[in-house]
Amino acid sequence: MTPAEAQELTVRASNALAAAGHRDMIWGHVAVRDPQNRGIWIKAPGWGLEEVDPALLQLVSFDAEVLSGTGKPHKECHIHLEVLRARPDLVCSVHTHARNAVAFAALDVPLLALSHEGALFGGDDVPRFGKTGALVSTPALGRSLAETLGDAPAALMPKHGMVAAGRSVAAAVMHAVLLDRACQVHLAALAAGPIVIHSDPDEARAKRAECWPEAQIEAGWQYLLRSAAARLSV
Ligand SMILES: [Zn+2]
Repeated sequence: MTPAEAQELTVRASNALAAAGHRDMIWGHVAVRDPQNRGIWIKAPGWGLEEVDPALLQLVSFDAEVLSGTGKPHKECHIHLEVLRARPDLVCSVHTHARNAVAFAALDVPLLALSHEGALFGGDDVPRFGKTGALVSTPALGRSLAETLGDAPAALMPKHGMVAAGRSVAAAVMHAVLLDRACQVHLAALAAGPIVIHSDPDEARAKRAECWPEAQIEAGWQYLLRSAAARLSV
């Protein structure tokens, strides 16, 4: 990947997340690791995910200095800086205030595999960041969040939002989208009555392998890109 390709992917990932319902006015962001490991490509503050274009990007160093682009970085850039610093295998991280995830986290119940999306965690519960419900605005909080995420595809940030990550931009975006949709299904089922049927851990593990291999993640990502280009909401 070249730096130009990383910039293009940052734009496309931002637009794709907007199409998938992760908009929260100007809040929430996606970061792509700079191929030369100078830091992350991320949008500048003050713009919505659907508004991102190449002129609005910053290259932010792992010390939170803006190396390219204008203005200050997002206060919560430490989420991405520390998640990507902790896991050199990761290429991309996502932080949004997706509403289903926030509402579901408030219930403090395990995320069950009610649907294909729910099987993303292979029968395990989704990790939850309990250190603060306020902004992750320091390197120490970013490191703590990275520890909570571990090697999971995504984690809930109760009272706040979610974080997701992946070894590709496609994976990070799809992990964020799948977690929010799993929370949406779970909320609907809880609202309608007691939950009776869900995958046990063995079935959830099998479904994770069957439903979410790299090819399916890539196909979902391509669909999100087409939806974003057509200005459709998924
Ligand atoms: Zn936030």
